[in-house]
Amino acid sequence: MTNSLRRIRDEKYAAQGGRCFYCNQPMWSGSPLKFQTAHSGSERKARWFQCTAEHLLSVSDGGSETSANIVAACKFCNQSRHRSKQPLSPEAYKSKVLGRMEMGGWMRLSSSDTAPASG
Ligand SMILES: [Zn+2]
Repeated sequence: MTNSLRRIRDEKYAAQGGRCFYCNQPMWSGSPLKFQTAHSGSERKARWFQCTAEHLLSVSDGGSETSANIVAACKFCNQSRHRSKQPLSPEAYKSKVLGRMEMGGWMRLSSSDTAPASG
């Protein structure tokens, strides 16, 4: 990662309140240990919530390393989007992610967030 990309990522991370552009879950930047403790998650899970620089238009499609083309996204959302042969547009991908989460899917930091208070 270049210095400018890292700088942009850090700016976006701060601007987005430390939350992923797609799944809106908290991310960490730096060390996962605090994050893992704060969310009482496993190390393996915490690793997916690393803040990454996500190119809205991928570099291979002509996307540039500029602030306008980059958002902060968790590693899981970032990798999942670019794993498909024809990545969805950021808007379409975001609604897909949020839809999956509504149904209790996706990589969730805490699965008890939406659980009923009793029972
Ligand atoms: Zn995410």
